[in-house]
Amino acid sequence: MYNLQEQIAIVTGAGSGIGRAIALRLAREGASVVAADLDGKAAGQLAKEITDTENRALAVEMDVSVEKDVERMVKEAREGLGPIDILVNSAGTGTTGLILNHSVEDWEKNMAVNLRGTFLCSREVAKGMILRKKGRIINIASISGKQGEEFIGGYAASKFGVIGLTQVLAKELARYQIRVNAVCPGYIWTPMWENLAKWFRGSFPSLAEKSPVEIFENRVKSVTPLRRPQTPEDIAALVAFLVSEEARNITGQAINVDGGAVMH
Ligand code: NAP
Repeated sequence: MYNLQEQIAIVTGAGSGIGRAIALRLAREGASVVAADLDGKAAGQLAKEITDTENRALAVEMDVSVEKDVERMVKEAREGLGPIDILVNSAGTGTTGLILNHSVEDWEKNMAVNLRGTFLCSREVAKGMILRKKGRIINIASISGKQGEEFIGGYAASKFGVIGLTQVLAKELARYQIRVNAVCPGYIWTPMWENLAKWFRGSFPSLAEKSPVEIFENRVKSVTPLRRPQTPEDIAALVAFLVSEEARNITGQAINVDGGAVMH
């Protein structure tokens, strides 16, 4: 267990999947949690789950790609719980299709949520961390941010950007004792992957009879040496370590949790 008592963490995308598991894990480690999400109801339910266990939590409905929303979220977090020690950028989205078929809107959606959202939240939260000369930022990137992948090109490009931004922030903020790292999940069954599997099924006649879960499991088996999917809790475990004192000398890294699918 990592001692995160007295720590205040913002988790974006906390209403679902990986962000939700991270928020619950940080709360279990003792942190107070701000659950930020486009889906205010889901964020509210999560915050209630946490406060039911006597930890402090609050929910904020917001869009990470909108500057004013991000400013409001950080203000509400600070006023509601106190100065922010930890930011986890987990909100994300993805579009599908060959790059040659990508519309500008698809391209911009990936960049707006995954890359601009990470930039806006990090910039806003870092202001307070700089004053206090401490903080940790974790960006949930992807193995698609290390190895280009067909059919999710806009998404992959945005995640390459997230890893680049992680390195820049790690260098710029190190002088304030703020550590910045990325975690790169592999294959996790969440609404995001369900949408992708449905797209594969609709796009390839050979997959028409398969269920989305089967498509996902076959993909995992074919590309993952450990031959099993990862879970949101696997990602949360690494995040909990990275924001703890045990990781005090780790910054600027992008660490895969992917069963060995990508080895760089
Ligand atoms: P998920 O279950 O769909 O969760 C994403 C959450 O982010 C949802 O609650 C979503 O709200 C929220 N969100 C989307 N756009 C937002 C915005 N503009 N502002 C605020 N919140 C927003 O997906 P997930 O699989 O947990 O993904 C979490 C992160 O892990 C993402 O960054 C994703 O790229 C990354 N990742 C996932 C996998 C995987 O296999 N699942 C692999 C690699 C990386 P709505 O539901 O209302 O849209």
